[in-house]
Amino acid sequence: MKSLNKNRVLVVFSGGQDSTTCLGWAIRKFGKENVFTLSFIYGQKHSIEIDCAKEIFTKLELKSDHFRLLDLKVMKVLGDSALVTNGDVSQIKDGLPSSFVPGRNIIFLTHAAQLAYQWDCKNIVTGVCETDFSGYPDCRDNFIKSLQVTLSLGMEADFLIHTPLMWLDKKAIWELAEKSEVLEVVRDMTHTCYNGERNIKNEWGYGCGECPACLLRKKGYGEFNSNK
Ligand SMILES: [Zn+2]
Repeated sequence: MKSLNKNRVLVVFSGGQDSTTCLGWAIRKFGKENVFTLSFIYGQKHSIEIDCAKEIFTKLELKSDHFRLLDLKVMKVLGDSALVTNGDVSQIKDGLPSSFVPGRNIIFLTHAAQLAYQWDCKNIVTGVCETDFSGYPDCRDNFIKSLQVTLSLGMEADFLIHTPLMWLDKKAIWELAEKSEVLEVVRDMTHTCYNGERNIKNEWGYGCGECPACLLRKKGYGEFNSNK
């Protein structure tokens, strides 16, 4: 059994609201110098997310060699989803949202574990969330627990997968961002909008304000703000 460094953490980091909140959480819990990040390019329409990820990484002053970008364009060939093709993201198909990419989080977390093994990180953080259950089976708590066992067995290591957002609603995720001292970074530097809108600035950040992702973000921010 490989005993991985329990002080080190790898964050699966897309540059979006949820994973940036997780990054703030990880920095607070483990210390900046122990945080590593992994981002993926997989043919998503908006490589703007990757630009956000790089900017946020720099802004939070993480160590430059702790950032890794992995090319998973093969997902474009295998995935049949609105996020990687040009379909309508609000459609439901076979009881699943059309933005669902089958197997995505299995692949992402498997690569995260491979890299965590290489970088000697026991801890892996992912921003999946079951609360606003949007139909993604690979965001559920049971799935993550099961994958933690599988990855640990398969690599003879002792991974611990953290999901700080698992039981939070959108309002509580904003609260966690504030508590983790990344509220401004999350609000002003992350990207959520399915339409890739970066020119319209709202009080809750950039976005079209009309797509499902913007509507959720706006609603959560409104609830968070009204409670202050
Ligand atoms: Zn939008």
